[in-house]
Parts: sequence; structure tokens; C-alpha cells
Amino acid sequence: MLKGKTALVTGSTSGIGLGIARALAAEGANVVFNGFGDASLIAGIARELRERGVQALYHGADMSKPADIEDMIRAAESAFGRIDVLVNNAGIQHVAPIEEFPVERWDAVLAINLSAAFHTIRLALPKMKAANWGRIINVASVHGLVASVHKAAYVAAKHGLVGLTKVVALETAQTGVTCNAICPGWVLTPLVQKQIDERAAREGLSADAARRALLGEKQPSLSFVTPQQIGALVVFLCSEAAAQVRGAAWNIDGGWYAQ
Ligand code: NAD
Repeated sequence: MLKGKTALVTGSTSGIGLGIARALAAEGANVVFNGFGDASLIAGIARELRERGVQALYHGADMSKPADIEDMIRAAESAFGRIDVLVNNAGIQHVAPIEEFPVERWDAVLAINLSAAFHTIRLALPKMKAANWGRIINVASVHGLVASVHKAAYVAAKHGLVGLTKVVALETAQTGVTCNAICPGWVLTPLVQKQIDERAAREGLSADAARRALLGEKQPSLSFVTPQQIGALVVFLCSEAAAQVRGAAWNIDGGWYAQ
């Protein structure tokens, strides 16, 4: 479905982003992948993506740095002409009560989870508009729709990302470019494993009990969402069937937001 198109997925060396990169490559898109990781991890991902018969290019931009982001978009456009599918996925979390929230962590969460998407969109959109086709997909969170305690920066950034999604959807409404957000509930990735480990230590629980407690608190299905399921939703949002899905904040959350 995406043969000959180019997708850039930020934060795709792990977790959800890697699931999305795999799903887009399976549809025939060339992939620019990004994120941290050692040389052997990056070489392994490139090899795996190329095995799907597509080109894969890595760029190590630190998404908290606008100059790095500009360099990455330039590199992607000079390799492939333009970016057709832009997935803003890189994200970090920090958990602390607001009075104790480190200022430096607030700045980092806002930069990576929100401002980075502003930069990639402003830089990639002109060529999408010129081609009159594009898909911008922002990986927000159910925390872009509702709050939880001790996640001030993350909830603020993800609500901001949903707002940014709506503005871009309106500004592109009469073009072939769409912009939507995906709002996952719990997905078992390193970002969430860290929260499970902290909870196990804090409450004296086994890893398994901490995992069950985490799900039981918020996610009615009591099952994790998977990166594969999110990858499939991204592929749908790239399809012609989704051409009039614009400005959505699409929850995929085991029922979390229905409560
Ligand atoms: P993860 O920690 O497994 O992956 C995060 C990716 O972002 C990695 O590739 C990492 O290298 C990259 N990254 C982090 N900081 C970066 C930076 N400064 N520059 C470039 N890359 C950077 O996390 P994940 O759970 O896969 O999260 C991916 C996205 O999904 C995030 O935006 C997160 O907020 C969102 N999300 C996750 C969950 C969940 O339950 N895991 C739920 C809702 C939303």
C-alpha cells in the first residue's frame, strides 16, 4: 500500500516506534528511523527493515534539539525527496509530585514529547503540501485526554500534542495531508517497565503483581496494548479509507478512556 513512499518515525529504536516502523516497512514504505541505541542495535534494525524489501536510513537526532531535527529532515529529504508519512513518536516520562518535579525534567519532557513534533511538522509539511499527499501521525497517549497524578509534564505535553494535532488538521483540511493523534493506554515497553519496576520496589511487590496492579488501576481490559496493534492503526490512518479522518485523537487503550 505504501510502496515508493517514505516514512520517518521518531523514537523508533524501541517499543511502539519500532512496531510502527516495522508495520510501515511491511507495507512497502522506505523508513527513516531514529532514536538512541548502540551501533549493533541500529545495524540490526536497519537489516531487519531492509529484509522487508525497503530502504532504511538511520538518523540519530536528539529530539530535544531543534538543530538536530532540522538536520534529520534535510537528510531524509535529500535521500528520498520528501517525507510522505511523518510519525512523531519519541517520548520520555518522568513521575513525581509537582512540588518535587525537577525543572530540567519538565523542560526535557516538553521538548521531546511536544516541541519536537512542532519542529518536524513545520519542516516536513511544505513538501507534503506540494505533493498534495501526506500523513502526520502523532503518538500522544490516553494522557492526552485525561490526567493521572505525578505526571504533570507528560500530561501537559500530551494534551498539547493533541491540540497541535487539531490545529494542523485544520490548516491542512483542504489538502491531501491529514494529521491525527493516537492515544494508547498501557503498552509493555521499556518506558512502562521502568514504572512497573519502581512500583514493585516502592510497594514491595513481585514484578508480576506490580504489572497486574498497574493494569488494574486504569485499563479495564487488564491486557496491554501491543506495538503491533498500534502499527496496524498507523497503517490504517495512512490508507485511502482514512483520508477524511482528520484531527482525531484515537484512543487504543483497553477501555481506559471509556470510564
Ligand atoms: P520506549 O522508551 O520504548 O521508546 C522511546 C523511543 O524514543 C526510543 O527509541 C528512544 O531512543 C527514543 N527517544 C527518547 N528520547 C529521545 C530523544 N531525546 N531523541 C531521540 N529519540 C529519543 O517508549 P515507548 O513506550 O515505545 O513510547 C513511545 C511513545 O509512545 C512515547 O511518545 C510515549 O509517550 C508514547 N506512549 C507510550 C505508552 C506506553 O504505555 N508505553 C502509552 C501511551 C503513549
